[in-house]
Amino acid sequence: MNKVILILSDALRYDIAKANMGFLGHLVEIKQASLYKIVGELPSMSRPMYETIHTGLPVSAHGVVANSVVRLSEKPNIFQSAREAGKVTAAAAYFWYSELYNRAPYNPIDDKEVDDESLNIQHGRFYTEDAYPDIELFHSAAHLVRRFSPDYLLLHPMGMDYFGETFGSDSKAYRNQAVYQDMKLAPLIVEWRERGYTIFVTGDHGINADGNHGGTTPEQRDVPFYAIQPTGQGRGDTGGSISHLQIAPTILKLLDVPIPSTMKREPLSLD
Ligand SMILES: [Zn+2]
Repeated sequence: MNKVILILSDALRYDIAKANMGFLGHLVEIKQASLYKIVGELPSMSRPMYETIHTGLPVSAHGVVANSVVRLSEKPNIFQSAREAGKVTAAAAYFWYSELYNRAPYNPIDDKEVDDESLNIQHGRFYTEDAYPDIELFHSAAHLVRRFSPDYLLLHPMGMDYFGETFGSDSKAYRNQAVYQDMKLAPLIVEWRERGYTIFVTGDHGINADGNHGGTTPEQRDVPFYAIQPTGQGRGDTGGSISHLQIAPTILKLLDVPIPSTMKREPLSLD
């Protein structure tokens, strides 16, 4: 039985990740990780993609078509399916995740930190400020792993999106945040792999030089998908593409949780 950590770095663009994330690049180079490109689902917006990634459905099917749609998910999703199968779920993530899978609208006092087995995200640590430091969130996630050994953990930092929207993608600040995330995640990835976790690193969408996303250009939609297995075996840079829609069934399959019939895409084969 596998455990999974999904590192969903908001607005982590494919080319920027590949050029600036050297620890992940090392794992790819020595074939201890596999790298794919995801040509992201549309629109390349955050809340619609959070739901797409966790339900395996396009926005036309799940209905969260814009960031302004504030409600609980109405489709089978990773958190719900895992919890119903008796798995332990956790997230260190932006508050929109609490709204999609725990409670909507978000109450910043009651919902910020939750440890409640009846919730879809049983152990949640949420933030509301886009400028919330990534390192603080990384430490929250690392604590959740050590304390609760969740079967599924979502780690969702906002730093790439914050610096990308503030300074544009063609900026020192945006590129440097990719270097920073890679550097800070490196020892955590090693620890989590040793604890038996399969780790995925991806993005919800990219970002362009205007500091925007939502559209259809490669800058706005192409994100990386790194797969790191506890066995240490990977395929290197595959040069291949997968879909955002494959992430949810891939994770549920790894967790040995039945894949809902709504998730129609094939799980990714990691071997
Ligand atoms: Zn986003």
